[in-house]
Amino acid sequence: MENFGKIVQELRGSFMKGRTRSIEFRIQQLKNIERMMIENEQCFIDALKSDLNKPVQDTILAEIDYVKNDCISLIRNIHKWTADQPVAKSPTTLMDKPYLHPEPFGVALIIGAWNFPLHLSLAPLTPAIAAGNCAVIKPSEIAPATAKALADLIPLYLDQQCYRVVSGGVPETTELLKLQFDYIFYTGSTVVGKIIAEAAAKYLTPCTLELGGKSPAFVDDCTNLETAVKRLLWGKFNNAGQICVAPDYVLCTKSVEKKIVPLMKKIIKEWYSDQPASSGCYCRIVSTRHVERLQNMINKTTGNIVIGGTIEASEKYIEPTVITGVNFDDSTMQEEIFGPILPIINIESVNEAIELINSRDKPLALYVFSENESVINQIRDQTSSGGFTVNDTILQLSVEELPFGGVGSSGTGAYHGKHGFDTFTHYKPVLEKDLGWMMEKVSDFRYPPYDPKRIGFIRNLTKNRELPSFGFLKYLMMLLLGGVLGYASACLAKE
Ligand code: NAD
Repeated sequence: MENFGKIVQELRGSFMKGRTRSIEFRIQQLKNIERMMIENEQCFIDALKSDLNKPVQDTILAEIDYVKNDCISLIRNIHKWTADQPVAKSPTTLMDKPYLHPEPFGVALIIGAWNFPLHLSLAPLTPAIAAGNCAVIKPSEIAPATAKALADLIPLYLDQQCYRVVSGGVPETTELLKLQFDYIFYTGSTVVGKIIAEAAAKYLTPCTLELGGKSPAFVDDCTNLETAVKRLLWGKFNNAGQICVAPDYVLCTKSVEKKIVPLMKKIIKEWYSDQPASSGCYCRIVSTRHVERLQNMINKTTGNIVIGGTIEASEKYIEPTVITGVNFDDSTMQEEIFGPILPIINIESVNEAIELINSRDKPLALYVFSENESVINQIRDQTSSGGFTVNDTILQLSVEELPFGGVGSSGTGAYHGKHGFDTFTHYKPVLEKDLGWMMEKVSDFRYPPYDPKRIGFIRNLTKNRELPSFGFLKYLMMLLLGGVLGYASACLAKE
C-alpha cells in the first residue's frame, strides 16, 4: 500500500504554499479535466462498457458530457463565485465593511461509487478545484476499468502536487480515513456512510454524504399513463436500476396497477425487444455479489413476477423485472434494490401512501406521477425527501440550479453547480473597521463604566431594523437624532 500520509502531507504543503489560490491556476486545471474528457472519450466509453456494459449514449450524456458541462459552468462563473460578497449593513456597521470571503477548506478526500464511476469521482472534484482545494480522489474499485482509466489519466492532466488518485478498495479507504483531511466528500451506501461519518467525527472534519435508500414513486390515475410509465421505467431500468435516485418501488391503487402493468410490458418490449439480454441498450449488474443479492430478492419474493425474472448469473444479467402483490415484509422491501427489479405495492388512498412513506427512512428522491395539484402538494408537504420530482424521474439531477443531496439517512449536504462550489468553500465572515473617531464616538457606550442614562440611545442604535434605501449620511443623521431623543426621553423620565 502507498504511503497515504506522505501524499496528504505533500498536498497540504502545496495548499499552504498557496498553489491553488490563483483563480487562473484553478481555471487551467478545470480546462485540463475538460480536455481529458475530450481526448480520452473512447477510453472512457470502453472502460464503462467493460464495467457495466454501459451503452455509449448513456456514457456520453451522463458521464462524459456531464463532467465537461460542469467544467464549462465552473469556468464561466468562477470569478463571480470566488469574489467577496458584501452583506447588508446595520446601524452599528454603517461605516464598516462586513463581507463574506470564500476560502477553500484545504485538502479534500473524495470517495466515489461504482454506478456512475466517472461522474461520481469527477463531479465532486471539479467544484473542489474551483473552490481552491487540493484533493485525494479514491474511485470505486467495484468499477475497476474506470478506476484504472482515472488513475492512469489524471496524473497526465492535473497538477500532481495538488490532486492525487489513490487506487484500492476497503483496506485503502480505511487507511485513508485514519488521516486528517479538511473535507470529506463520500458517495455510496448508507451503511458505509456511517463509517465515513465516524471517521470524520474523530477530527471534526466537515463532510458531505451522498447516500442512497428506497425512493418511492406514487402513481395516480393520470390521463396520459403511458408517458408516466415510460418515464418511470426509464428511471428504473436505465443503468439496470443501479442509480441512487432510481424509483425503488411503486405505490398505486389496484385499479392503476391494472392499467400500468400492460403498459410496462409493452414499453419494455419496445425498448429492449423480447430478448433484453441481447439489447445493446441494457446494462449488466456490476458484480457477482450484487447479482447474488438481487437473485435472492427475486427468489424469495412473496409477490407475483408479472414481467421478467430471468437471471443469467454468469453474464451478470438480470431481466427488467416487475413484481405485483408486494407488501413491506417482502424480500424486495428490506433494503435498497439498486437493480432492475420494480415491486408494486397497492394502497387505497393518498393518505395511506403518505403514511407508508413516512414510516420508513427519508428517501433520496420521491416521485409523484399525477395531474392533480392538490395530490402533488399534499405529498410534497406531508413527506420529507432529498428531492421531490413530479411526473418524471432522475432529471432533477440535470438542473444545475437544484442542489442534489439527501436528507436524514439518504445523506447530508448537496452539490451540483453553485451548490458544489459552496460545498467546498468556507465562507469566512469578515468585518473590517477603521480606527476613525466618528464611529468610535457612536459606539463608545460598550466600554465601562456603563452609563444607565444612555440606555435609550443604545437600544435605539442597536435595534434590528432595515436600513432605508436613501443615502447613509441622511440615515446617520436620523440615527443620531433618534439617539439624542432617546437620551433626552431617558433624562426626562428620570426627573
Ligand atoms: P461502492 O461499493 O463503490 O462504495 C463506495 C465507496 O466506498 C468506494 O470507493 C469503496 O471503496 C468505499 N467503501 C466501501 N466499503 C467501505 C468500508 N467498509 N470502509 C470504507 N470505505 C468503503 O458503492 P456502494 O456503496 O455499493 O454504492 C451503492 C450505494 O451508493 C447505493 O446505496 C446508492 O444509492 C448510493 N449512491 C448514492 C449516490 C448519490 O449521489 N447520493 C450516487 C451513487 C450511489
